[in-house]
Amino acid sequence: MTWTRLDDGWTDRPVFDDVPYDCRWHYLCLVQFCSRTSRYDGKIRAADARRCSDLPDPVTAMSVLAAAGLIEVGTDGAVTLPKIEEHVPPPSLRDEGRKERQRAEKRRSRLHIRGDHTECLPERCPKAVSEESAEPSSPSRPVLSRLRPGVSTDVSTDSPMTESEWWADQWDREDTVSSDN
Ligand SMILES: [Zn+2]
Repeated sequence: MTWTRLDDGWTDRPVFDDVPYDCRWHYLCLVQFCSRTSRYDGKIRAADARRCSDLPDPVTAMSVLAAAGLIEVGTDGAVTLPKIEEHVPPPSLRDEGRKERQRAEKRRSRLHIRGDHTECLPERCPKAVSEESAEPSSPSRPVLSRLRPGVSTDVSTDSPMTESEWWADQWDREDTVSSDN
């Protein structure tokens, strides 16, 4: 779930004075499309912009919105919302590092499974290379034993995850996230 930001005076803005109701509705739908799909630059493809709302004639609505300065329409029909910054999360709240973190996590997981623990995090892996690694880790932990294909690794019980369950869980998450992009 994401949220569209609208200030309390938004509906009273003079910019809407000469914009018919249905066009205002289409504008809000454009704003929400950008917000919902993380288009923080306010750019929408022509086809997406047309089907944002249920208006019978979105093209005319968008020419009204363009005349009011609420949107810019390119020669290819692509739409830009110059005021999108007001409605999408501020940069500090955008999770743009998510992909990068996932990549690092996947790499760490691969190395761990191969027995290379140089990038493992001490709180998750007893063999992680850290200052506290002076204490010898428990011998022969079954790192790979639970990583069998086709076995559900969804651990919803109260028992704490073992290291291998934790990694398997991370692995599954990564696959889920990648496949919907
Ligand atoms: Zn490790």
